[in-house]
Amino acid sequence: MTTDHHPLYSQLPATDRLLRDPAFSSLIARFGHSQLVGVLRKLLDEAREAIRECGALPDWCEDWAAAATDALSLAEKSPLCPVYNLTGTVLHTNLGRALQAEAAVEAVAQAMRSPVTLEYDLDDAGRGHRDRAVAELLCRLTGAEDACIVNNNAAAVLLMLAATAAGQEVVVSRGELVEIGGAFRIPDVMRQAGCLLREVGTTNRTHTQDYLDAINDNTALLMKVHTSNYSIEGFTKAVDETELVNIGNARGIPVMTDLGSGSLVDLSQYGLPKEPMPQALIAAGVSLVSFSGDKLLGGPQAGIIVGKRQLIAKLQQHPLKRALRADKMTLAALDATLRLYLHPEKLAQSLPTLRLLTRTPQTMQAPGERLRHALAGRYDAFSVQLEPCLSQIGSGSLPVDRLPSLALTLTPNDGRGGQLDALAEHWRSLPVPIIGRIYDGRLWLDLRCLEDESGFLENVLK
Ligand SMILES: *Cc1c(COP(=O)(O)O)cnc(C)c1O
Repeated sequence: MTTDHHPLYSQLPATDRLLRDPAFSSLIARFGHSQLVGVLRKLLDEAREAIRECGALPDWCEDWAAAATDALSLAEKSPLCPVYNLTGTVLHTNLGRALQAEAAVEAVAQAMRSPVTLEYDLDDAGRGHRDRAVAELLCRLTGAEDACIVNNNAAAVLLMLAATAAGQEVVVSRGELVEIGGAFRIPDVMRQAGCLLREVGTTNRTHTQDYLDAINDNTALLMKVHTSNYSIEGFTKAVDETELVNIGNARGIPVMTDLGSGSLVDLSQYGLPKEPMPQALIAAGVSLVSFSGDKLLGGPQAGIIVGKRQLIAKLQQHPLKRALRADKMTLAALDATLRLYLHPEKLAQSLPTLRLLTRTPQTMQAPGERLRHALAGRYDAFSVQLEPCLSQIGSGSLPVDRLPSLALTLTPNDGRGGQLDALAEHWRSLPVPIIGRIYDGRLWLDLRCLEDESGFLENVLK
């Protein structure tokens, strides 16, 4: 039984003495006095606890400067650290969705370092409006009359509903009452916006007559929601936007679409599955279309709304717009990203999302072989193979479509599952953590999103 009078307590250094020790002066210079004092107090508490519990000093007490350096360096590591996304999901929400194009990165850095003409019109020194420049680009790209930018697509849907239909009814098909990850559910958003949800049709089939029957004097909107993260197959029927616009036009009711991802280019030209395009809906006469900035568009997190001038003006003037507006860094990144679309011939190279989505297994073969060889020498408890696999687009885009890809797989030689978990944990603890997927008794590292082969190898073999 140990007591507070254990002789080891007298061996603990005083904080003041440590701070005067020359070994600590570089730590004070690097981390500052107060952070260092905080860490030393924590280490002293730990040491006292070790004496109380085990009657011994922890090993690190032999070098307090080293222990403090380790603790401070650990605390300095940002919780937003870069990782290798080898999950096979290109737009991975938990890993930050779309990677930004170099042009966008530069534009953001510039907007951070320097004052910018965010709401300032150089011609007449009046107060411009912050979405103006990006809105003009969006009109050019989609054929819309005007546009509005907010924090994300969830915010876009909330704003569209609140500004055009508060206190009134919004008609939506029961097949489109979606839930997107992270608690975005159409009925809940509807309530938050102060609208009355008027569900029509059934889960699998909704007809024109269902919409017609639901319309009354209190109907403000006909809403379509793109079922981006699931698909209803079999005996199904939905009413498309063109038909809804016909119904809406006859009664003076606008049609609005939450497109989710949307794509500003026809993805089928790259051999990818086709995703609905905002410009097609605008051409069909839809009044408001919203989509995300960081899904297939390949830009920053943002909610983009394009549509009719009068309705966009309503959104711009609504008090929620002020609360949901995008900041200058988002607008800078979005502007730079959209400019890449003005040069579509280069898009598959200049836009990282498209570049990664269009990579073929053939282009991954040679780097894959080199990596397999390097890893096989290093991880001899595993069989390292190069195997075909299927990547996903992610972020609820094209949920049932898969892209042929190539993966490094590590299978434990002794067939035990515990080793796999330990291996995955080891990958996650590397200087730049590597995130893969375990299934079918193997760890899969999908090579689709690996563009930095030498950095990866250096990181693994260190
Ligand atoms: C992704 C998605 C949203 C949410 O968009 P965020 O930009 O993540 O806020 C809303 N609706 C649909 C249909 C979506 O696919």
